[in-house]
Amino acid sequence: MFAEAGGRTVARASRIGAWLVDLLLPPSCVLCGTAVRTASGLCAGCWRKLRFIEEPCCPVTGRPLAHEGEVADFLPAPALTAGRAWDGIRAAVLFNDAARQLVHGLKYHDRHTGVALMANLMARAAGDRLRPGALVVPVPLYRRRLWLRRFNQSALLGRRMARMSGANYMPEVLCRVRPTRPQVGLSGDDRRRNVRNAFAVPPELGAAVRGARVVLVDDVLTTGATAEDCCRALRRAGVERVEVLVFALAGEGGALHI
Ligand SMILES: [Zn+2]
Repeated sequence: MFAEAGGRTVARASRIGAWLVDLLLPPSCVLCGTAVRTASGLCAGCWRKLRFIEEPCCPVTGRPLAHEGEVADFLPAPALTAGRAWDGIRAAVLFNDAARQLVHGLKYHDRHTGVALMANLMARAAGDRLRPGALVVPVPLYRRRLWLRRFNQSALLGRRMARMSGANYMPEVLCRVRPTRPQVGLSGDDRRRNVRNAFAVPPELGAAVRGARVVLVDDVLTTGATAEDCCRALRRAGVERVEVLVFALAGEGGALHI
């Protein structure tokens, strides 16, 4: 009871804190800094620059389809291989310059103002995949990179979405069991080799994940090699269903420039 009352006090204090921040620092567009009405929002111009992915979309690649019956005839081979590892995939936006600014702001410049916006857009794309009972598991960083960057961007997004939806946030479910090179600049095959068997579920969590439905969270999906290896590790541990949820989906052409 005391913990609950304490939680309410903390929540109230953080609401008051947010109100004070708004009062002192009027909200500005996450991307360009123009004044906007609500915190963690975008101005109309920047909003138009994001390319939202709406249903229907391909369950293997996450790409938008023209209509429900469209067959994704031009699936790149790596997507087909990777797609077998997951049961479904949803992305909020296509990876373009505006999406890149949001992702890079979070990843490399410590600009956390975009987290709420990105998490809201991802939760909207996820729909009822994010619900009480589902496990939200972020793609983990290796310890050294976590130490260098001080935070895991996928974990920030996952934690926020779990809080919003009532799903269980369980970052400890996946761990990197060996270091990998950064995927930037690697070809599809090299990416796959780089992350193969890089992830595992700690044995002591086996009972917690057996038969579970997992939402695997990452910021960007390129070839799908990382998500694929995470999904395989989750399946080995007995997870029943894995849905991949990312903020941005990179096109084949832009895959190497993230
Ligand atoms: Zn703007």
